[in-house]
Amino acid sequence: MTLRLHDTATRTVRDFLPLTPGKAGLYLCGATVQAPPHIGHIRSGVSFDILVRWLKVSGLEVTFCRNVTDIDDKILRTASAEGSPWWAVAERNQRAFTRAYDVLGCLPPDVEPRATGHVPEMITLIRRLIDSGHAYAAGGDVHFEVSSYDRYGALSGQRPEHMRAADDIEGGSAKRDPRDFALWKGHKPGEPYWDTPWGPGRPGWHLECSAMATKYLGPTFDIHGGGLDLVFPHHENEVAQSRAAGDGFARYWLHNGLVNLGGEKMSKSLGNSLLVDAMVAEVRPVELRYYLGQAHYRSGIEYSPEALAEASAAYRRIEGFVVRASEAAGTGTGTGRAAGTGGTGGTGGTGGTGLPLASSLPAAFVAALDDDLAVPQALAVVHEVVTEGNTALAAGDQAGADKQAESVRAMLGVLGLDPLAAPWATAGDSGLSDVVEALVRVALDQRQAARARKDYPAADAIRDQLHAAGIVVEDTPAGPRWELAR
Ligand SMILES: [Zn+2]
Repeated sequence: MTLRLHDTATRTVRDFLPLTPGKAGLYLCGATVQAPPHIGHIRSGVSFDILVRWLKVSGLEVTFCRNVTDIDDKILRTASAEGSPWWAVAERNQRAFTRAYDVLGCLPPDVEPRATGHVPEMITLIRRLIDSGHAYAAGGDVHFEVSSYDRYGALSGQRPEHMRAADDIEGGSAKRDPRDFALWKGHKPGEPYWDTPWGPGRPGWHLECSAMATKYLGPTFDIHGGGLDLVFPHHENEVAQSRAAGDGFARYWLHNGLVNLGGEKMSKSLGNSLLVDAMVAEVRPVELRYYLGQAHYRSGIEYSPEALAEASAAYRRIEGFVVRASEAAGTGTGTGRAAGTGGTGGTGGTGGTGLPLASSLPAAFVAALDDDLAVPQALAVVHEVVTEGNTALAAGDQAGADKQAESVRAMLGVLGLDPLAAPWATAGDSGLSDVVEALVRVALDQRQAARARKDYPAADAIRDQLHAAGIVVEDTPAGPRWELAR
């Protein structure tokens, strides 16, 4: 079976046939860095991280480009409201986005271009559009002439006569048609600007992405991704200007569903309590990733603390099996969360990427992800194998448990959720986890000795002190085991 993906442009699920066999180029609209990310922003990062992982596991050599929009009306507004330079606002929020992608285990892109570093490429694209009669300079701005491109509206499935005016109204009076959108915005006092043959100014958002995508991926590339809220006008305008200029542009358009709060799209004002930095102080990042990644990427997520708690519990069930199986096999260090083999265990990997080989995955799991990344069905397979593995553990069938644990870890690796692999495993942190393990063992031996001489207050005191240090002790038939408190 081949990978099939839902293409917004055709509104169908299509076989994914890369432009160059064995390779895949992916452009994802990244952050507009006017504020730190909430979970609505970062869901896109997680969804497309799963896609990137799956393309790689499927044997493709992926070039993943995710941009940063570091010049924009909203960034300028934030900067002027707080009295900071616009570039300082952009830098600060870009760091917050990078932190959020990293903390949620998203693989870094191969290139992360910033709009302000690509003005020459944008000027070249404007030149091509003016020369071919698709754009015009007027009143200091340069506009794309929508009526010059007969497929305008095709991506978002709208008829031109029903389309609303472009929202960059400041250039309105000089436009030939209200739907025309700004490729370049003429300089206004107090705003940053770059010189062009059509006068000083700054780039329009849509132009930035067309220029950056084709610079890194070529005039025609495989996949363009982004949130569902970007289909119109952003992506409609990107495809119009690039194709009008003669580029093939994206061959597949993928859009992730949004995270809603109280039935509304999460906005800056609604989403403050759901900033990624604040969320990961309350919930383990791996559980937040599980929550954001578990739904089908095209479905909307209605945020609720209860649903997040359910996702956490589901992840812990999987994690609990993996950790216990690893402890029973003696491959872990017996420290719960601190256990780690630092890699993908015995599953092999795809050429140093840390990802499992497709051949190590259950066929039903592969079939689910090949079917437009059906993560809910893929997770159902994970949970089934966990159930079988727990049964094997309870029956003392170590070989069976090992086999199921290996399979579960391979599947989790594809989803970026393997608790014993980077970045979730703490093994490899300069050997500190080994030191902690040894120290906790000393304390637990003292506690056992106190119990043996029936000095229960001393035994309890040791347990309480460990607890105060963030360590939970559990007595099992095989002796005490410990893990970090969550
Ligand atoms: Zn974009």
